[in-house]
Order: sequence, then structure tokens, then C-alpha cells
Amino acid sequence: MASVQMKSQSGSATHVDVVIVGAGVSGVGSAYHLQEQCPGKSYVILEAKDTFGGTWETHKYPGVRSDSDLYTFGYRFKPWVGPPIATAAEILKYMGEVITENGIDKHIRYGHRIVSSRWSSADNLWTVEAKRNSDGATVTFTCNFLWMCQGYYDHEKPYLPEWPGMSRYKGLLVHAQLWDPKTDYTGKRVLVIGSGATAATVVPAFCEKAAHVTMLQRSPTYFYCHANVNELADRLRQIGIDEPTIHRVVRAQVLYDQQMMTERCLKEPDVVFEELKALIRQYAGDDFQFEPHFTPKYRPWQQRLAFCPDGDVFQAAAKGKLTVVTDTIDTFTEKGVRTASGQEIEADIIVAATGFRLSVMGDIPFYVDDKRVDWHQTVNYRGMMFTGVPNLVWVFGYFRASWTLRVDLLGDFVAKLLNHMDAKGVKRVDVALRDEDRDMALLPWIEGDNFNPGYLVRGIDQLPLRGDKPEWRHNQDYWSEREEIPLIDIEGAEFVYDGKRRDAKKQAAE
Ligand SMILES: Cc1cc2nc3c(=O)[nH]c(=O)nc-3n(C[C@H](O)[C@H](O)[C@H](O)COP(=O)(O)OP(=O)(O)OC[C@H]3O[C@@H](n4cnc5c(N)ncnc54)[C@H](O)[C@@H]3O)c2cc1C
Repeated sequence: MASVQMKSQSGSATHVDVVIVGAGVSGVGSAYHLQEQCPGKSYVILEAKDTFGGTWETHKYPGVRSDSDLYTFGYRFKPWVGPPIATAAEILKYMGEVITENGIDKHIRYGHRIVSSRWSSADNLWTVEAKRNSDGATVTFTCNFLWMCQGYYDHEKPYLPEWPGMSRYKGLLVHAQLWDPKTDYTGKRVLVIGSGATAATVVPAFCEKAAHVTMLQRSPTYFYCHANVNELADRLRQIGIDEPTIHRVVRAQVLYDQQMMTERCLKEPDVVFEELKALIRQYAGDDFQFEPHFTPKYRPWQQRLAFCPDGDVFQAAAKGKLTVVTDTIDTFTEKGVRTASGQEIEADIIVAATGFRLSVMGDIPFYVDDKRVDWHQTVNYRGMMFTGVPNLVWVFGYFRASWTLRVDLLGDFVAKLLNHMDAKGVKRVDVALRDEDRDMALLPWIEGDNFNPGYLVRGIDQLPLRGDKPEWRHNQDYWSEREEIPLIDIEGAEFVYDGKRRDAKKQAAE
């Protein structure tokens, strides 16, 4: 790998070719692809926290783990060698290895929270200002290209609804995102508010030491129970296959199985639900009651299935350690909550697994030639670039497949784009609506019947717009994007280099 030195130091600003924002799985993966595929480019990763990991560093509640398998949540370039579902600590260890094995550490500036980002068309440069945690100083970087890997939610302030009577509650009320791992819950009555992945993770972990756990959910979730093993990986290991090959083969297997599952969920949702129930019965017993707490109103896969390794949620339920209540909160009381149907739930600790507060672009104010960017006025190209905002790519992964699959796909795309710009000798790239897009309907970024997490619905007015053509949607479909993204024609009419639109007629004739 060629050395990637800072190019110059002009005044108090440090110049690099590329600034990557965030050292979570997206930022670290993007840095790897940049180094590998554009070895001459200098770059820094600016990270607000004092360490890497993003999501996996922030969340410290009991049992915190992935709900995707790590053969696909892991990068394509670094084999995963453990059980498919991993703890936060295991994911951090894996990321740490990626960072040190590839010399990414020397490019990361920890404790640098970006506070503004300004594009100058005269200079074809972004000027990025960051506040340094260690001394409060403002540090300035300039770069030609910004790679936004800042995630999608506020790491400090989670989403906590305002329930009536909250101040009356005398116990400990904490959002899962802010859980302090030193909190002792041994022998305590714990109430978890919420369903879905976080609740499914935290509930069995609390059940191990708490006196009793109640999960209060507004609506039921689908659970997929499976032992935390990948039989194919274990078999290949047993017969001496090397880890890179195992990683490649098992990734292909998992992706194939997920694709089949998605298709079946659409074609025969009732059959799939019966199969999911049969898996649950293996852990919860044959007489387990699914009504009303485990019969969702949506079809399987419309939201991510909550993976339940070794059926741990249902093992806890079978042991009588877990009570599920499907209801809404009427009010908090001194001792817990009262539900709309009048049920009193007493608890020493209430854990709100109520989701995130959307943070668009890391809450960084952006300016293009001194005009503040309103993301809701931009149109989003394939969920990664924005009209009116040059030289910037945004990494937003998948909900139904592992987030990281898109990090790898976009890594290839950005590297191709940067190399193409160098070959053309241009400094600026924009995406713009083409002539044929002129009458295209501009729609809210999320597609309610495709994916609709609460934090995106709540923040829809801050998100960009999309169109109804493939180029102007993030379709949340890894299986189609893995074919489409590598084939993107970066000389297509939607790409404008150095402000010069291609002549559509000439292009059609070519
Ligand atoms: C508890 C939990 C479990 C999850 N499990 C899975 C799973 O199993 N599979 C899956 O596919 N997805 C899962 N997700 C989704 C998950 O967030 C993504 O998979 C992935 O970790 C996101 O990585 P990221 O790097 O894009 O963002 P993040 O992990 O959010 O990291 C972004 C980084 O950018 C930094 N940053 C933000 N703003 C600024 C700024 N202004 N200046 C400097 N730095 C900034 C942050 O400090 C942070 O370190 C889970 C999410 C949560 C919360």
C-alpha cells in the first residue's frame, strides 16, 4: 500500500484529499477501500468520540450484540471466524484488528467533532471545522471530497417519548442507549418498554440476574430462533478449509438464504410464520401461546426479523422469568406504569428501548458557497449523493440486510468515481436531474410500505427527497444493488463534472 501522507499544511488548515466523517463500521470500511483502491489519496477520519466503533461503543446495555450474522455484517475483506451473532465487544475487537492490520489508526483523529462544513466552488474545496475534545480548540481541515459515515442517530440523546406522570416514578428510568454498565439489577424487577431488536437482546440478558422482567410492547414482533452457529462454517473449518474461503462461501450462503426468505415472506407469509412458530416451540414448548403477544400485524420481513440466538427470549419465557404485555402506557405511577387497559406494572428499573433520535449528517451545518444546505430540498441519488451538494457521498446501509454490505459496495463506487475524476482531470462532481427526470414525482425519502423505522418517520422533514426511478431511490435491496452499483455509468447524464453538463444528444449518439 502506498504511503498516504498529509499533502500540505497551509496556514492553520490541514489539507487532505478526502475527509471521512466517523470511525464506526462505515468509516473504517470506507477508509480501507480508499487506501486499497486509491492508494495515492491522502485522508483523515474525523471522529467525535475518543475511540472507534460508533454504535458498538455507544451501546452498553446487558447483552448488547448484533442481530445480523457477522459473515455478512463483517467486511468482505476480513474473515469473520466466530459464531454468527456477535457481542459488541467481539465486533469492536474485529474492527480494532481491521484498523491496526491496515494502518488506518494513523489517519484517525479521535475527539474531533465536526461543527461545520463549507464548500467553495471557487476553490473546489470543502473546509471542515472540528472541535477538539482535548483542549476545545477549533481545528480546520480542507479536502476535495467528503465521505459521510456519521451514521443516522444522535449518540448522546436517544428518543424518549414524553409519557404522562414520568416525574412521579421513584425507580430508575433509563434509555437503553444510555445504560451505565455499572448498574446492578440483581434481584430487581425490570420493565423493558419496547419491542424489536434492542428489546429482544436486553430481555434475556436481564432475565439472567433480575428477579423478574416484563416486556411492555405496543405491538408484536416476529422472532427468528436459531442456534448461534453456522453449520456450514463449522463443517468447512473441520475439513481444513482456509478462513478467507470460508468467509466467502458462508457469506454467499447467508445471502442466498436471506434472499429466499425474503421472497418467501412476500409469496407465502403464512407458511413462513408457521415455520417461525415451529422454531419458537423448540425453545418455548409445544403449548406456547402466540396470541396476542407474538402475532404481528405486518407481514414478516416488512421490518427486520428479531433474531433470537438459541431462542433465548423464549427460554426465559418458558422458565417464567419473562412476562410480555401488549398494550400502551396510560401513565407512569410512583411504582411503575399503568397501561391503557388498566394493568399496573411495578418495577425497580424501567428501561426504555424506544429507539433513536435521527441525526441527519451528524447534525453538522453544511454550506455550499455560503448558502446553508437544507437536505429536504435536495434529491438523493441512489441513497448516496445529493443534488446541489458537490463532492460528497453519504453511506446509509440496509435495514433488511447487514448495513456493512453497502459500505463495501459504496467503497468500490467512491473509489471508482475518485479515480475517474483524476483520469478526467476534473475537481468537481455533482449529481443532477436529467432531462427525462424533469417531470419525475419528488417523494419523501422513506417508502412506508418498504421500510419505516420510527426515527426516520419522525425526521422525514429533515431527510432528502427521492424520485421514483432507480437512480433516485435507496431501494434497500442489497440483492439488486450488488448488480446495479458496480454497473453505474459514471459518465451518465446524471453526473456533472466541473459544472459541465454533457450534451444529451451527443451522449445518445455515442
Ligand atoms: C444496538 C444496535 C444494534 C444494531 N445491530 C445491527 C446489526 O446487527 N446489523 C446491522 O446491519 N445493523 C445493526 N445496527 C445498525 C447499525 O447502526 C449499523 O449497522 C452500523 O453500526 C452503523 O455504522 P456507522 O458507522 O454507519 O454509524 P455509527 O455506528 O453511528 O457511527 C458513526 C460515527 O460517526 C461519529 N460522528 C457522528 N457525527 C459526527 C460529527 N459531527 N463529527 C465527528 N464524528 C461524528 C459518531 O461518533 C460515530 O462514532 C444496529 C444499531 C444499533 C443501535
